[in-house]
Amino acid sequence: MILKNYQNLETERRSIIQAVEANNTWRSSCINLIASENVMSPLAEKLYLSDFLHRYAEGEPFHRYYNGTKYIDLIESEVQGLMGDLLNAEYVDVRPISGTVANFAVFSSLAKPGDAMISLSTPSGGHISHNKYGAPTALGLKVYNYPFDVERMNIDVDKTRRELKLIDKRPKLFVLGASLFLFPHPVKEIKEIANEYNARLVYDAAHVLGLIAGGKFQAPLEEGADIITSSTHKTFPGPQGGIVATNRDDLFTTIKKGVFPRLTSNHHLHRIPSLGITAIEMMEFGKNYASQIVKNAKALGEACYELGIPVIAEELGFTESHQIAIDVSKIGLKGKEAADLCEEANVIINKNLLPGEPLKNVKDPNGVRIGVQEMTRFGMKESEMKTISGFLKRLWIDKENPTKVREDVVELRKNYSNVLFALK
Ligand SMILES: *Cc1c(COP(=O)(O)O)cnc(C)c1O
Repeated sequence: MILKNYQNLETERRSIIQAVEANNTWRSSCINLIASENVMSPLAEKLYLSDFLHRYAEGEPFHRYYNGTKYIDLIESEVQGLMGDLLNAEYVDVRPISGTVANFAVFSSLAKPGDAMISLSTPSGGHISHNKYGAPTALGLKVYNYPFDVERMNIDVDKTRRELKLIDKRPKLFVLGASLFLFPHPVKEIKEIANEYNARLVYDAAHVLGLIAGGKFQAPLEEGADIITSSTHKTFPGPQGGIVATNRDDLFTTIKKGVFPRLTSNHHLHRIPSLGITAIEMMEFGKNYASQIVKNAKALGEACYELGIPVIAEELGFTESHQIAIDVSKIGLKGKEAADLCEEANVIINKNLLPGEPLKNVKDPNGVRIGVQEMTRFGMKESEMKTISGFLKRLWIDKENPTKVREDVVELRKNYSNVLFALK
């Protein structure tokens, strides 16, 4: 244990401030292609720093366990309505402080220890909170994974139906949605199966919430999901946080208790106004924003593929979302190596397991995952995607010195420093 590895307090103070400033400067000259990140608009960012940073408001708007909440009551109930409109949901809870907390709250409300839950494995795209290292084990649930068809890059519905007959438990929860999420999931078909077991269907929209809000991905509740859980900061470019949305008042009553008091006390009030501003931005600009994201992702997939970069799912058009995935093992690299080379050139991506890859590869997988949502928010279009594919080729195939590539990355990024699709 290291308790006192610092020099003196003044040095430490300066070191913290300098690291923050250095990160700000560095990141503003990077092309960020992490699929789970985004930036807020200047207005949302401005409202993030407010007195609400210091406050509590346990309970629901207008029914709190604290005093001093009259303004957050107004804002939070307004934001529930805005998010509900975007997702076609009557009931919304914006109090989960992250997507993982939203999942915990929902799973713990709808299943009991010993129940079975069906989700995607990590290599097939499932999130940690869908699998045995996350929420299900903590809640005593038994996880079974959907069979995944690598050819179609999607859940094999017929095989799911057959395999479910062989397990000794009746599933209580079906979870859809993923972290590697290239194509819409078969919500309607899985809902039919869930109905046969009288089980609930949860759609985890963390990655694609902004695309859903913009009408450019599937509409989970209309297609049959009982509940949406999500983060609010991936394709949906809001503050980091979580959300639950549903039209089932019966389920919502228990889910709310899962959110508070079971999993939150303070719900980080300062993010709620920013979430509201982002919701309005999605109402005004979401369609254009989401459709440019999907166009950019397809364009990046196409351009990379043409340069000999092994993007997966070529026969399927690479993607219908904000992401593409690349099997860098086919060009003699590991995921980490490929991502580290990029980072030296100010291109930020992450290593990722690919569908069909064994879970034991998790620390050193064959793939990388790329998301174009943040650069789209900064105004990049198809032609910039082509330029980016050129950077990747120079780094990975031509083995050019990353510091050389970095000069061109920084130059390109200079022209894209303002957040578009944003309210003033
Ligand atoms: C990112 C993610 C989450 C978790 O979100 P946090 O807000 O980081 O807790 C949940 N589900 C999926 C599918 C995700 O990709």
